[in-house]
Amino acid sequence: MMLRLFSAAPCALLLGSLLAAPAIAEDLADTEVSSLPAAGSLTEEALDTPTLSVISIADNVHVALGHGRTTMAMIEGPEGLVIIDTLSSEEAANRVLTAFRNISDRPVAAVILTHLHRDHSGGLPAVAAHNVPVYSRAASVTSDGDDSSNTFPHESTADSEDSAPQAQIPSRQPIRGRHPVTVAGLELELVAAHGDDDQQLWLWYPHKGVLFSGDAFYTSFPAIHALQEPVKEARDWLATLDAMLEQSPHFLVSSHGYPIIGQEQSLTALKQYRDTIALLLDEALDGIEQGMGPEDLVAAIKLPPELAGQPFLNERYARLAWAIRAIYADQRGWFDGNPSSLATLPPAELSARIAELAGGPDVLLENGLLALDNGDYGWAAQLADHLLNLAPDHAAARHMKADALVGLAEQTTTLPERDFYLKAARQLRQSTGE
Ligand SMILES: [Zn+2]
Repeated sequence: MMLRLFSAAPCALLLGSLLAAPAIAEDLADTEVSSLPAAGSLTEEALDTPTLSVISIADNVHVALGHGRTTMAMIEGPEGLVIIDTLSSEEAANRVLTAFRNISDRPVAAVILTHLHRDHSGGLPAVAAHNVPVYSRAASVTSDGDDSSNTFPHESTADSEDSAPQAQIPSRQPIRGRHPVTVAGLELELVAAHGDDDQQLWLWYPHKGVLFSGDAFYTSFPAIHALQEPVKEARDWLATLDAMLEQSPHFLVSSHGYPIIGQEQSLTALKQYRDTIALLLDEALDGIEQGMGPEDLVAAIKLPPELAGQPFLNERYARLAWAIRAIYADQRGWFDGNPSSLATLPPAELSARIAELAGGPDVLLENGLLALDNGDYGWAAQLADHLLNLAPDHAAARHMKADALVGLAEQTTTLPERDFYLKAARQLRQSTGE
């Protein structure tokens, strides 16, 4: 058993019944019970939760973290428990239910799914086993057909990859607009929302001022564009954040990462998230109107330090540059405005001319290997691409590109980008018999 209670700046609201009842902790096998390092803070270290943690806020609200940064929360009502999101698998959800059972033995009265990405809904069968109402945007819920590529990246994707196919579970209440509900003796409000997924909702618990934000506010730069995904509608995302701000929550519980504690801290975080999207959108659209191309915009648009330094705007899942290029493409399509882009050479011909200019393919290989030695991995990968355009089976070029991609993977902090690099490197190495 691992139990660690941080003594630094504990927030009395956080520990709640867990501190008051030490016997409970004895039963929390493999569960770490912790407070936040400081009220309202959201540090880089605090986001890494390798062990299941249960944080108690607002007396009767408990948030479990520790499965790839996806949260599962519980509100204790007079007549039962309301569960918000169910992690990625039944196994993970059952672990959290076991921990929650040490806090309350009341029956589960309802499940609320903020959205249907598998890392939030995969454990539903474990939680909804007793035919309790399920609230979501959809008429029915299943996770077997969901594509896990659109989920917030995990430290380990084992949970989602190993999830067994699941039967459809009817959602009793497809949510549209604002939807007040009374469940378990609790007055709650479900609000249809846009964010990382345009079919999500956020939950408002007015009696305690707790806002569950789903993936409309989370601990990453907002994924206006995640790789190989459709571009999200940034204006709708802004409207969702504006509606959340109007509630003036005292607690902001994201579906990823630690809760934010305190009204001022919650409002500041929501406003900074909103302002980031607004700034990005305004500056990108202004620049496009002035005739700037996508790479001009990427070079020109920067977040001010007070926004760029916020841990919940870290580019762990999506990048500012991707959002800018996506907004450009959404507005202007593939043409970057440079007339030369209308007269490009086919890749093989371009690579043949570059090799000729350089003094032959061997010079490209030599320079690529030198770039690898110097840690100049992007250039090494591009030189390998020229060689592979000329000879797709070029074994040395495949090795060189694989090594370059592994180097790039080690340098990036953006997890989907790292996954793309490593997956391609693995395929290249397999293709050469490694
Ligand atoms: Zn998510």
